[in-house]
Amino acid sequence: MTGVTILGSTGSIGVSTLDVLAQQKERFQVIALTANTQVERLFQQCQAVQPEFAVMVDEDAAERLEQKIKQAGLATRVRQGLAGLIEVASLARVDYVMAAIVGGAGLLPTLAAAEAGKRVLLANKEVLVMSGRLFMDVVHKSGAELLPIDSEHNAIFQSMPENYREGLAATGVRKILLTGSGGPFRKTPLDELDRVTPDQACAHPNWSMGRKISVDSATMMNKGLELIEACWLFDTSPDNVEIVVHPQSIIHSMVEYVDGSVLAQMGMPDMRTPIAHALAWPQRMESGVERLDLFSGVKLEFQKPDYDRFPCLRLAQEAIRTGGTMPAILNAANEVAVQAFLEQRLAFTAIATLVEKVMQTVSAQEARSLQVVLEDDARARDAAGRLLLAG
Ligand code: NAD
Ligand code: MG
Repeated sequence: MTGVTILGSTGSIGVSTLDVLAQQKERFQVIALTANTQVERLFQQCQAVQPEFAVMVDEDAAERLEQKIKQAGLATRVRQGLAGLIEVASLARVDYVMAAIVGGAGLLPTLAAAEAGKRVLLANKEVLVMSGRLFMDVVHKSGAELLPIDSEHNAIFQSMPENYREGLAATGVRKILLTGSGGPFRKTPLDELDRVTPDQACAHPNWSMGRKISVDSATMMNKGLELIEACWLFDTSPDNVEIVVHPQSIIHSMVEYVDGSVLAQMGMPDMRTPIAHALAWPQRMESGVERLDLFSGVKLEFQKPDYDRFPCLRLAQEAIRTGGTMPAILNAANEVAVQAFLEQRLAFTAIATLVEKVMQTVSAQEARSLQVVLEDDARARDAAGRLLLAG
């Protein structure tokens, strides 16, 4: 039996992962589940899969969960805080860690899983945005296996030559074509964008996801973060990654080769496909995903990204070109801005403005250590907070 920890099991990716695992009970055993504050949801998951450990980051929530688990007579042991997350990410009994916490909060537990040499199923893209080089160094040193869950990166991985780690140019790859739907506001009149609501921003046309990534998809910061993620995962520069708007989300990304071949991975927009792929790799297994019916009127359209409508794309490109801690600064500012937007303290169009101002005020340095990254992350959050107060 393969032991699995799911970091962020109550979220969108966490729930999809549990759904896939429920179809493969003879192969996988869930060792640990974790959540931030959602007691009822984590408790129900514990009843369903009876993990050895359940981690609740919030202290009060952990106590409430522990009581419910005792009352129900479950053997699951409850842990709390960051220490609990790190413990269950590195347990000897755990072979695979699904990293599905949202945002910078996932950095240390995901890093712990990589340090412990696990197979890391990486959904939490912010980890690579914040600390790409450090994280990849840890992966290489520890012998951890890193498999991308983000649908685009999973598609790129599937379309890459087997020996791509020898270098993209050396293995005949010309370019990565990173697709994105353009989100819910691809055609909204520009002068209406400052009035869109959090619910409108979270109503993605093709994917059902957590609120933070949904807003990122609406600003296309998500595609910017994914550009940075792709550079680290496939050891390439942003010049070799072209962003392609593909509104239908049927092609999940492509790899172009020097001989003119373009390999694409296609399927229904359902995260259970990349999750099942990474769990079963190098084999394949059932995921429960609806089959792609090519005769149902499927359309494949492609457009160039609109940088005026989506200034976050340009900011992310600037951040990766500047390098060092600038992507961490971009990410931190974006997290603060998105949260403020979701709480209706900031207009949608002000997300990009705030991120840009933070990038101008907080200077980047070489990302020599985790401590430096965490310091600049904190400086960027402070700066964003102050700018928010200043209005
Ligand atoms: P979500 O908001 O639905 O779930 C987030 C999970 O993280 C929850 O279990 C929550 O309890 C936990 N969490 C939140 N804050 C935390 C904190 N401070 N400390 C510890 N745990 C915390 O998010 P999601 O949509 O599942 O996305 C998770 C990650 O996967 C994100 O990084 C996102 O970019 C990435 N991703 C998601 C999708 C998708 O379809 N949802 C697709 C690609 C990539
Ligand atoms: Mg994606």
